[in-house]
Amino acid sequence: MAPTDVPTRELYIGGKWVAPQSNKRLPVICPFTEEQIGTIPAGGAPEVKAAVSAATKAFYNGSWSKLTGAERASYLRKIAEKVKEKKDLLARLETLDNGKPISEAAWDIDDVAGCFEYYADLAEKQDKQLETPVELPMAEFTSVIRHEPLGPVALISSFNYPMLIATWKIAPALAAGCTVVSKPSEMTSLTCLEMAAIMEEVGLPPGVFNLVTGTGPDAGAPLVSSSGLAKISFTGSTTTGRRIMAEAAKQGIPTCMELGGKSCLIVFDDANVDDAVEWAMFGCFWTNGQICSATSRLLVQERIAEKFYARLKQRAESIKIGDPLDEECRLGPVVAESQHSKITAFIKEAKSEGATLLTGGGRPKHLPKGYFVEPTVFINVKPEMRLWREEVFGPVLASATFSTEEEAVTIANSSEFGLAGAVITEDATRCQRVAEALECGIVWKNCSQPCFCNVPWGGKKASGFGRELGTYGLSSYQNIKQITTYVSKDRWDWYPSKL
Ligand code: NAD
Repeated sequence: MAPTDVPTRELYIGGKWVAPQSNKRLPVICPFTEEQIGTIPAGGAPEVKAAVSAATKAFYNGSWSKLTGAERASYLRKIAEKVKEKKDLLARLETLDNGKPISEAAWDIDDVAGCFEYYADLAEKQDKQLETPVELPMAEFTSVIRHEPLGPVALISSFNYPMLIATWKIAPALAAGCTVVSKPSEMTSLTCLEMAAIMEEVGLPPGVFNLVTGTGPDAGAPLVSSSGLAKISFTGSTTTGRRIMAEAAKQGIPTCMELGGKSCLIVFDDANVDDAVEWAMFGCFWTNGQICSATSRLLVQERIAEKFYARLKQRAESIKIGDPLDEECRLGPVVAESQHSKITAFIKEAKSEGATLLTGGGRPKHLPKGYFVEPTVFINVKPEMRLWREEVFGPVLASATFSTEEEAVTIANSSEFGLAGAVITEDATRCQRVAEALECGIVWKNCSQPCFCNVPWGGKKASGFGRELGTYGLSSYQNIKQITTYVSKDRWDWYPSKL
């Protein structure tokens, strides 16, 4: 794709394309060529104010919040259709912007369409369950539970699945009847700008969806300190998440926090080594290693460790690395130079701390340009090493061995994070036992990473709280209201009326 094919767009506020008052734009750098391929508008406090005000006005005028679920669903289905129509363009923009292999980007875009359809179905179902009766212990009263939209919400997302993670928030929020201000990562905003174009094309009422691009300090910070928001949903690093929680606490509004992780894959010695190696690689190298739920800590049972590592080295070295627009590519560059430097610093430190480099650790020789990091595996990694404790967010796998199930579970749970975990064994009883023992929000049995919009997503401990996706994703954008009615013909008479 030639650079000129990257659309130049403005901010989308109140149903209009608006240039930032500062007239500033941020460069879009392709992580493969390291060249500028476009620009995005650098929104700031005035645009955030206008976007929050547009979302607030649209929420209270009822143009969206008062529609039936079925009416909202028809818009969500139109959005899904447009996403499908534009799949090739969206996938290419995602790859050019983020560096993920085109086959993975295409998968993301399918999931974007699928997520809008899923929440369209749920929005329709809600019409039938708008008021759910609840049985009470007193015949004088009846009660119903009503699901109402929360209000205008701020949705801030990360760079690793730019359009998909934004959708995980936007689709349920719109399905619930909320109005939205979306703030994607400044590193990868191209597909979210196209999302705004789609909202315009399907004729979403003005102000229902607003998009402000810009940096965290200039656009994100004023957004999270805005008054009038009903909720902030955030996906990003634990450090930024904690800052946002503090701001939300000042406003007294709820947050959903999807933060970092350092998840563990446990491989028992009865596992098929080839299958387990495949999941170990997919668990850490997919999306160029930039996955919050990456099983970036690998525990291998001692008896098979030698065979396992030999096979892992061989297969990791055969991964096709290169131009992410090549359909066969399985590992592209990481998103930006800053991330590349962060990852290489981790690798350097792991070496100096005494971890054994099994494979990788540098730049692929055939790729002198681009933010590439070879698929890297360290073994003999000790629990006190930074590589074992901290999120690298790159294709770097840290491994250690274990002898007993109890030891494996203890090591897996000895982390400040609690997003995901995975276990591979032929023993179904053990598999279930370990799944229950892992302290996290997502567990994969005999695999790692598959993700479906039908099931809840989220973590515990420093990985955050709240859940996205599934029915939980929808209810997290709803005010759950009880309406209780006094139905008795008799007077209540707590204070006797006949004096
Ligand atoms: P980040 O925290 O740097 O940025 C995330 C978003 O927050 C961006 O849009 C950024 O502009 C914005 N932001 C930055 N400072 C802000 C501020 N002060 N106020 C408001 N907004 C601000 O994270 P990132 O580097 O984009 O993403 C990587 C991180 O995201 C990793 O830690 C990863 O694990 C995590 N992540 C978590 C999940 C999950 O589901 N738990 C999913 C994907 C990514």
